[in-house]
Parts: sequence; C-alpha cells; structure tokens
Amino acid sequence: MKKHAIIPIFIPHLGCPNDCVFCNQRKITARTEVPSEDDVRMTIEEWLTTLKPEETEIEIAFYGGSFTGLPIDEQSSYLSVAKEYLDAGIITGIHLSTRPDYISAEILDNLKAHGVTTIELGVQSFDDSVLAASNRGHDSSVVYKACDLIKSYGFRLGIQLMIGLPGDTLETCLYSAKETAKLRPDLARLYPTIVLDDTELLSMYERGAYQALTREEAVLRTKEMYKILDETGIYIMRVGLKSTDIIGDGGAINGGTYHPAFRQLVESAIIRDKLEPQLLNLASSGAARVNVFTNSAWFSNLIGNNKENKVYFAEKFPSLSIRYGVDNSLKDGEVKARTSALTTL
Ligand code: SF4
Repeated sequence: MKKHAIIPIFIPHLGCPNDCVFCNQRKITARTEVPSEDDVRMTIEEWLTTLKPEETEIEIAFYGGSFTGLPIDEQSSYLSVAKEYLDAGIITGIHLSTRPDYISAEILDNLKAHGVTTIELGVQSFDDSVLAASNRGHDSSVVYKACDLIKSYGFRLGIQLMIGLPGDTLETCLYSAKETAKLRPDLARLYPTIVLDDTELLSMYERGAYQALTREEAVLRTKEMYKILDETGIYIMRVGLKSTDIIGDGGAINGGTYHPAFRQLVESAIIRDKLEPQLLNLASSGAARVNVFTNSAWFSNLIGNNKENKVYFAEKFPSLSIRYGVDNSLKDGEVKARTSALTTL
C-alpha cells in the first residue's frame, strides 16, 4: 500500500500583518528563523534520507504562516525549490497553508504554475461573530469565495477549524463542521484553541474576558465535529496540535485544553458513543460474556487513553464480563460487541 509522507517547511509568521488573538506563530512553529532557499533545500534533502521505501506519496508542505501573503516573487522562490523535486519525480505534490483572504486568481495562477497540489485554508470558524471576536480580519463570505476559487482551479482543498475561540459554542462548532461538510474539502484539521503566552488571548484569559475550554468540553465539541466530517467522507488529517508544534518552557500553554494525545481522546470518545448502546442491548438481553472488537488501528482507541473506556464500561456494566480484541475485517472507527458464544477470540 502507498504511504503518505510530508516534508514540512516552516515559515514563521512570514507575510502576515494580522493579529489573530490566539496566534503566537513563533511558539506554534517552534522556529524563529525565516528560512532561505538553501535552508529549504537542506531541509528537503535531510527529510528525503529518512523516508521509508513504502512512502511513495511524498509532499513538500509550507506551513507556519500565511504563505500566499508573501510577495509573489518570494512565494515563487520557495516554490521553485519544491518544484525542482516535483519535476524530478522525487516528490508527488506541493502543499501549503494560508488565509482565506490571501486567495485570488493571480495568486492561484502562480501556485498552479509552480505545481502546487494542495491548499489548506485556516478558516477557524464559519461563524462571523467568532471570526470578529478572534480578530481574524475577514468574515465567512471570504471563505466561501476562496474555497470555490481553489476548487475551480483543481487544487486539493484543506480546511482547518479551531474549537473554543472567543464567542464559540457547541452550536457554532457544529455549524462550522456542517458548513465544511457542504464545501466537501479533501481534508480537514481540527485544533482546540490553546492559550499561548504573548497573545491577546492570554490577556483576555487573565482579565476574565475569555474562558478556556475544559478538556472535557474540548473533546465533546471536537468529537461531534469529527463525526460530521467523517460521515461526509472527509479525510481528517489532524486532530489537536502535536507536542513538537509547541515549544514549551513550561509557561507557553495556559488553560487546560492541550493534551499530547488529543486525537486519541476524541476517537476513544467516538468509540464509546458507538459501543455503549450495543453493550446496553446485550446487558438487557441477559448476556454475561461479551467480546468487543475494532480493527488493530483503532484498538488503542477502544481501550482509551489510560484505559479510560475499559474502566468506564467495567463500571457501567458490572454484570458483563467484557473482553477486548481485534477484528481486521472492521473499518476504521467501527466497533462490534458480540456475545462470546458467537465468536472466538
Ligand atoms: S493569519 Fe495566521 S499567522 Fe497571521 S496572525 Fe493570524 S493565525 Fe497568526
């Protein structure tokens, strides 16, 4: 099976005159230097030596800032380096992230000419009051236009959403997920808001004008958004920031939302929602022993972070003896409970 690898190139805050309340790009990207063309080439060469033979879908990805906010000749200079590798058949795509209001026909013509394949938009929310309270500098109408234009050029489209921005609620989160589903992007990312040092959001938090989500609320909202996107068949590329995305001196993250295994928390909660009614049925039909299965990729989600699901179900269904196993005929995210008389482990 073909495997996908990404060679990330971080371009911190380059090209971005905006001041979104949650953003401290230096901390997010864990880089402070602006890379030169040579740096980009060196990063690519280093990553290429680490790729595995099965990783045959290889993308160079420009992350970290608003790439298309750069002057067009600077965009071209970075992209020309990536295109050399694309033309030589060493990589299969060029990927970048940017803001919805930095998309125009002129910009997209240039990206097309340089072989860019995927454009991810930092949409964050489709709710105009949330966008305004986060000082994003544009409203949702800009997002729809940018998505339409990107798709009309034949680029793959990605949409990034944030959970728990100022003014955000479960309802606005669900609205954002539904609007995303309607636009049918190729991929999506879900990021719970983290209160970083040196941000306006931290000042708001300290003066009581912003309340960080609890972890439980962040998991709940993200889980419901994930379900909407997943049901539409959208590839959910990332849920939560990676620990390496944030440099911490111990004080960079404020509030409780960050968890290094946030995706697992969300996927475990999804499995719990699917499994609970099945166990309830079996328990009320008088079953005593039950075997529960997911495929191997989802097995750790079945058990849960710190065995949370296992403990939860043991307490919730004391009359059931539950065994957990793997059935690779199941799809990702599927969970099946069967009485043990019908199955063998
Ligand atoms: S547009 Fe992106 S890089 Fe610029 S301030 Fe907002 S989040 Fe940060």
